[in-house]
Amino acid sequence: MVRTITLKYPGRCRDCGADLAVGEKAKWYGRGKVYGLNCHEKSGGGADLTIEYSNEYHWYTVYEFGVFPRSSVLSGQTMKSFKEKFDTVEEAQKAYPNAQVGYRDPMNTFNHLPGEEMTEGGYNDPYENDW
Ligand SMILES: [Zn+2]
Repeated sequence: MVRTITLKYPGRCRDCGADLAVGEKAKWYGRGKVYGLNCHEKSGGGADLTIEYSNEYHWYTVYEFGVFPRSSVLSGQTMKSFKEKFDTVEEAQKAYPNAQVGYRDPMNTFNHLPGEEMTEGGYNDPYENDW
């Protein structure tokens, strides 16, 4: 059973190896297995992970969401990259305790783009039959 605990003894994150101080919150996976709640982000450069079920292959895939580096042509755009696959969601969560379960489309993050194409395309032009 996974529990979120407050550490009574100093620990070490099993994922990234960060030192966890007494009084810090951590996820506890059983004897000696603790994962920090915030340390991966610090060390992983803000890594953003999802666990997605594949209907096609019947496994769980962990994806990392990041931003393309400045040197890339796609600079600033969302990058979704394959990390690892697991047979069960529990295994995936154990390996990536900070990952969110569920599908995420990288395009969803582009909500600052104008949406006018959907409404101004002429499909709903009330005058189009007058011509
Ligand atoms: Zn960690």
